[in-house]
Amino acid sequence: MKLKLTILGLLALSSLTYFVAKNRVICPKSDEFALCKELAKEAQLALGIPQERHAEVVKMQSNDPMYTYPAYCSNENDKIYVNTEMLSQIPYGGKRCIFCHESVHIKYNDAKSTPKVENRADTEGFYATGCSQCTHEMAYGRSLQNEDELIKDGYLTSKEINKISADLKKQHKLCQYHKDNKLTYA
Ligand SMILES: [Zn+2]
Ligand SMILES: [Zn+2]
Repeated sequence: MKLKLTILGLLALSSLTYFVAKNRVICPKSDEFALCKELAKEAQLALGIPQERHAEVVKMQSNDPMYTYPAYCSNENDKIYVNTEMLSQIPYGGKRCIFCHESVHIKYNDAKSTPKVENRADTEGFYATGCSQCTHEMAYGRSLQNEDELIKDGYLTSKEINKISADLKKQHKLCQYHKDNKLTYA
């Protein structure tokens, strides 16, 4: 059985447009797929996954039933599938959070998407970003979603992610990108 674990980061395209307008999409690389591979590698290293266990990043096909999601992973073949079209609309920090979330699933070889598993992927993943700004961007994305659904499925709410962001800010944690670009508002 093929089990798919996904991030309910940013669902509807209509809310994505608003998200983009508010956050300004800043992508340091014109090649979205190359950026995905780089961020997946960085996330898996941050989570202490040995290189030989790193999941391969694969482009999602547009007929994939999961194409409404920016990314998902499958424990069947240890691959992270990416929707580059959707990811290109998500701010850099949101992307880092997505790859950290998926990488926690890889780390624990999660076989099923349960509330407990998604809660761990969110919590451990967002801390693994080591950046108050990246998590702040993710919190904004989540604020556009149905809170009851998020809680039911084990995902952190916008408020909970902002708590992580505040915790990281207290420790002066910023990723290299946000250190260099000084675009913080968290
Ligand atoms: Zn997940
Ligand atoms: Zn950052």
